[in-house]
Amino acid sequence: IVVSKFGGSSLADSNQFKKVKDIVFSNKKRKFIVPSAPGKRYKDDEKITDLLFQCYNSIENKEKFIETFKIIEDRYIQICNELELDLDILSYCEEIKNTVYQNKSLDYIVSRGEYLNAIVLAAYLGFKFVDAAEVIVFLEDGKLNFDETQSRLYKMSLEYDYAVIPGFYGATDKGIVKVFSRGGSDFSGSLVANGVNASLYENWTDVSGFLKADPRIVDHPRHIEKITYKELRELSYMGASVLHEDAVFPVKKSKIPIQIRNTNSPMDEGTLILSDFESPKYPKTITGIAGKKDFTVIAIEKMLMNEEKGFLRKLLSIIEDNDISVEHIPSGIDSVSLIISDEELRNKLDKVIEEIRTKLNPDSVEVYPNMALMAVVGKGMIRTRGISARLFTALKEQQINVRMISQGSSEINIIIGIENEDFESAVNAVYYAFEQA
Ligand code: ADP
Ligand code: MG
Repeated sequence: IVVSKFGGSSLADSNQFKKVKDIVFSNKKRKFIVPSAPGKRYKDDEKITDLLFQCYNSIENKEKFIETFKIIEDRYIQICNELELDLDILSYCEEIKNTVYQNKSLDYIVSRGEYLNAIVLAAYLGFKFVDAAEVIVFLEDGKLNFDETQSRLYKMSLEYDYAVIPGFYGATDKGIVKVFSRGGSDFSGSLVANGVNASLYENWTDVSGFLKADPRIVDHPRHIEKITYKELRELSYMGASVLHEDAVFPVKKSKIPIQIRNTNSPMDEGTLILSDFESPKYPKTITGIAGKKDFTVIAIEKMLMNEEKGFLRKLLSIIEDNDISVEHIPSGIDSVSLIISDEELRNKLDKVIEEIRTKLNPDSVEVYPNMALMAVVGKGMIRTRGISARLFTALKEQQINVRMISQGSSEINIIIGIENEDFESAVNAVYYAFEQA
């Protein structure tokens, strides 16, 4: 069995639906299909899910709500018409509008893009539609009930030979719809793959695999042929948005491979993501680069900090009490830094600094805003001296100011702190330093 997830751009219009049908029908093993909501058809187009968020925000203004929802309806109607489907998609839309005004939950509304898309795709493929609310099970507190989800999906696989299951959401036993975070259809697909004991989880998107760097930053980067779950997670966590950072979890234990493939170029081999594979102990190159902008560093210095019992604990409880999660905590003998995303820090910076000053009595507290973090990822990279030398030489040649270096505990990545404005040139510098390798 193969489980195939198709992303938003793969299902943005009827032409994309045709490509998807060709792909699905070219291999009978593709039995369970997990679609996202329709994405952008062109650059300034809107994703259906974004329109649904707008609907939610205008829910108190019924006229506005209906107006925005109409744009959504029209897109599905157009798809159905162009595919010549005998499907009354409007009746499903009516049902949604009626439900919304009884139950104004955000999760219900924003998940309707996947719901409708799966109904359309199931009709087009002639597959059974299985509502994710029946098979992806959440607990009342909003956490996934993994075991129950797996057993329901397994039962589904015994009951139906071919089915379409919408991504992004599930429901509690009481029928309350809950969604995963944005991009969560990747996670749904992974749950389905594990639940039905698939031999492969395909993730179809608009790029020919996981690229060594973000194609919006580096011009036509090469693709990664093979990558481990661990490396992939580091890259996706650090902003390589091809696959949701949590999507490897459901298939991790069962070691089901994930393959990233391009709906617009289905002959390309894409990227294979594996639990682990043999590779040279001292590799010649890196696996990939990713990064994120907009961090703030809080650098704290205090002589003999290392001898002061409980210093770090007190520091961390200040952070915890302010409900902030920290990205990295590089530390030295007399110094420690907190690297926090601006989003986390929002209006809390002044308060945090004040508390650090009064509770920890440091020699100095320095704040560096506008930082970017770049992650250079690769198995065995850290123990290979030539690689880090080449990496830092490349940055130096581009006169990029390195503010922070931190080695991930998993030994497969180096995190480099640079200024926001240097981010693009830093990614390019590192990419080209290893291009020839
Ligand atoms: P989908 O709608 O199929 O889920 P996404 O937009 O979530 O697609 O993910 C695919 C996009 O991820 C690509 O179009 C590309 O712009 C972006 N991307 C960022 N980093 C990378 C990378 N390292 N390799 C490939 N694509 C990347
Ligand atoms: Mg995605």
